Amino acid sequence: MKESKKKVKALKIKKNDQVKIIAGNDKGYVGKVLKVFPRNESIIVEGANFINRHQRPTSGNPQGTVIKKEAPIHVSKVLIICPKCGASTRVGKAVLDTGSSVRICKKCHEMIDA
Ligand SMILES: [Zn+2]
Repeated sequence: MKESKKKVKALKIKKNDQVKIIAGNDKGYVGKVLKVFPRNESIIVEGANFINRHQRPTSGNPQGTVIKKEAPIHVSKVLIICPKCGASTRVGKAVLDTGSSVRICKKCHEMIDA
């Protein structure tokens, strides 16, 4: 697949957000977002969605090792946890008087961004 021409949309989820996983093996898990990949619309959540990564044998480590690593999760599989009301929610957008747009909680309508 040609990735280079794909338009990259800004995700509604950002690094350090608290999110709840709503689908898959880790359903119900709450964790912090460590990394976002806007190109793939996926994120890495701390402690969730572990996969085994096989590391190539090297001269210093002839056996190779299997390390557990968090794998990216698609953003549609998580909900953000609102820092104001604590509910898992969808993210809305609001435009401030200053013209900058902020993320808002669809449940309590408070700003998610501090
Ligand atoms: Zn809220």
